[in-house]
Amino acid sequence: MTQAQHGGWIPVRKDFVDLDTRCHARGTTGRHHGFPDGRAYILRDAHGHEYPFGEDCARAAVLHPDQLAQVPDYTERDVVRQADSLDAVIAMASRRRPSAAQREAGQRLAAIRYLVLRMEKVAAVPRVQPTVRFAPLQDVYEHFQRTGELSRAQVARILAIEKSPTTPPRLKALNLLDVYTAHVKLERLIAASNRLDNIRFLRGLHDWLARQLVLSAAQIAAAGIDMHPQAFSSPGIWGADDAQPGESGALF
Ligand SMILES: [Zn+2]
Repeated sequence: MTQAQHGGWIPVRKDFVDLDTRCHARGTTGRHHGFPDGRAYILRDAHGHEYPFGEDCARAAVLHPDQLAQVPDYTERDVVRQADSLDAVIAMASRRRPSAAQREAGQRLAAIRYLVLRMEKVAAVPRVQPTVRFAPLQDVYEHFQRTGELSRAQVARILAIEKSPTTPPRLKALNLLDVYTAHVKLERLIAASNRLDNIRFLRGLHDWLARQLVLSAAQIAAAGIDMHPQAFSSPGIWGADDAQPGESGALF
């Protein structure tokens, strides 16, 4: 497993954290700041323990700030502020053709993210559809858990499964990322609500999400969660004609 060296921290992933989570680093004020947007970098120390850091604190903790761009981001389908998305577009436009090494690094991140979403994050959603956890990925998932590494052949195999026409559209990477994001946001709302009827309604939506692996625009609006503008619009997830149910007003 990749471990922190020379007292440095190893970035593991960018992920959602509970809203009452505090940054592991102490800011200049000497106090632990929180994460108002509910996202953090997760860094691993020399003992293998993982802690949440804000972006600036993570940058200060790692040996090379570039390392932060080399972790899987499980929050990518969260709503982004206009400025962020504009920056991303500009960065994309000015980016040169990726080198072979950059392409390989990108494929490794995509493979890790798909593996972890399918075998761990979405698989752990209560009452989730059992097809999410995929037996042919079990060996490689255990290997990754043990070592934190994937061989080139394993990366290729994971990406081939994701792209395979036999993998249903709702089990593709981007849709699983939307499911994980919606799950986190519904759980936060349920935890924050003290009205029983509201909790019951949100639990109903959450159960639907777990079984169907999609939410319609009407369901997202009714729940009151902020999702990415293209959430649950990947090709094929609504069937052949991609028409969303619930557009006539029915929520389920
Ligand atoms: Zn911090």
